[in-house]
Amino acid sequence: MQNLTTLDNLIENLQLLPTIGKKSATRMALFLVKNKFIGMKIANSIETAITAIDECKECGNLSENELCEICTSKRNNKLCIVEHSRDIILLEENGIFDGYYFVLPQLENNKIEKLEQMIDSKKIEEVIFAYTPSIDAEAKILYIEDRLKDKHISFSKIAQGIPMGVKFENVDITSLQKAFEGRHKLKN
Ligand SMILES: [Zn+2]
Repeated sequence: MQNLTTLDNLIENLQLLPTIGKKSATRMALFLVKNKFIGMKIANSIETAITAIDECKECGNLSENELCEICTSKRNNKLCIVEHSRDIILLEENGIFDGYYFVLPQLENNKIEKLEQMIDSKKIEEVIFAYTPSIDAEAKILYIEDRLKDKHISFSKIAQGIPMGVKFENVDITSLQKAFEGRHKLKN
């Protein structure tokens, strides 16, 4: 058995990536060490992106500036609460929503305060919950609604058609679009 510590190390680290198992990690690692130019190019762009990209101070979206492009542009007075910033990418790429976003994976007090500030500063009139349907999401929605009950806004959540517990990225775009169009108003 040969001893290639650095290669083993690379294979192990590649497996830290989502969806990458040992087999794929090994194939990638061998490719990278054999194709040095591509390997360096990838290593370099990983480093550049990691350094440049952070969370938007306002909405939590990924951004290369303090505030993201969506927060600094003029949009409809609606705000869509999503679980992950990758949901924003998906909704934007497909032109499904034309308001602002807020990334709220967990109920953290400082995040909810930011959400309140954003509702005020952007003069938000409607808050749309775009969580993947689940018991946990329902509980989160109830809690946020209660925290925002003094604001003059209406609440809605995306319609059924998004299966329970399925991530947005695995839902077809037409279903996602329909879920937005057919969103339910929640009673205030
Ligand atoms: Zn933003």
